Amino acid sequence: MTTASRSESVAGDGRATAGQDLTGRSALVTGGASGIGAACARLLAARGAAVTVADIDERSAKELAGELGARAWAVDLLDVTALEDLRLETDILVNNAGVQRISPLEQFPPEQFRHLLTLMVEAPFLLIRAALPHMYDRGFGRIVNISSVHGLRASAYKSAYVTAKHALEGLSKVTALEGGPHGVTSNCVNPGYVRTPLVDRQIADQARAHGIPEQAVIEQIMLTESAIKRLVEPEEVASLVGWLATPAAGMVTGASYTMDGGWSAR
Ligand code: NAD
Repeated sequence: MTTASRSESVAGDGRATAGQDLTGRSALVTGGASGIGAACARLLAARGAAVTVADIDERSAKELAGELGARAWAVDLLDVTALEDLRLETDILVNNAGVQRISPLEQFPPEQFRHLLTLMVEAPFLLIRAALPHMYDRGFGRIVNISSVHGLRASAYKSAYVTAKHALEGLSKVTALEGGPHGVTSNCVNPGYVRTPLVDRQIADQARAHGIPEQAVIEQIMLTESAIKRLVEPEEVASLVGWLATPAAGMVTGASYTMDGGWSAR
């Protein structure tokens, strides 16, 4: 490998390489204490960004922040009133915090439906709103919204989740249009099932409900639509988020990048 090509390569551990270096940039990752968010926080920190891990789970956020030399922000993003007057000085915003609730529509608890929309649509809106003035001042900003294949496709029993992720897609596109003249991009990342605590809980629940082994849940229920029969790893999602944060992705905006093993190719 030549020096030039080596300098453009991505180190396996996510360390900075030329064109991917985020030194001097600040990054905020919501739901950064676990799963995909934690993988994003790790990768952005490894690339040199000053990372803030925002999460309701204060202990885990502090633990990860301590490990990464990052900042922890203990915040309940359901408390949206507190976000209305917020001003965020961040160059990169990863809207990642999310939860799942599974229930048939006619039994779906209205309060839980509202919770999912608040956490996964209203909070991202308020955080984008809080971050844009700083991004506009700097003429640079990267907003990455962790959507889902469920931002593009529906599944039964996931009315609130599918509704919220479809709404996030719209919010991301409007942000792209308004942010474009200011050097701010906004994109969605759309994974299929990712190996995280959120999915581990679903696998265990489904195995109990159907009376089948957990591996059968993964292969026969979760991955029926996927051409590649394995879960996505959080680090794979983070690698795409990391690329979207670089200057090289400056012309990528208003887009939705699937990482779903071919699910949405159908
Ligand atoms: P996870 O459960 O591992 O992590 C979610 C994090 O969000 C947790 O640290 C949790 O404490 C935090 N959080 C939850 N409620 C919060 C609140 N009110 N305020 C602040 N923080 C809060 O989940 P994950 O699988 O890493 O999911 C992250 C994102 O990726 C979600 O938006 C999810 O919808 C999306 N996603 C996940 C998958 C998957 O298969 N795991 C697939 C597609 C999209």
